[in-house]
Amino acid sequence: MDCERASHRMYYYLDGELTVWRRWVITRHLNRCPPCAQGYDFEIDLRQVIAMRCRDTVPPDLKRRVADALGLSATDDA
Ligand SMILES: [Zn+2]
Repeated sequence: MDCERASHRMYYYLDGELTVWRRWVITRHLNRCPPCAQGYDFEIDLRQVIAMRCRDTVPPDLKRRVADALGLSATDDA
């Protein structure tokens, strides 16, 4: 599996819409490919922020990590 396919399927992976076999293929790719693994971690962080934002209880460090990854500055952090 190449990186483009891996990152595309990551969304389905996170949504739990893949078969066991496909999840395993992606997991194996992530284990071998640090850039994709990093993107996967970011997706998880981002989903946490989105989920928490509904309750307005996003931890500052998590918000900062996502802002950094997006190239933004967490100005409302102080
Ligand atoms: Zn990759």
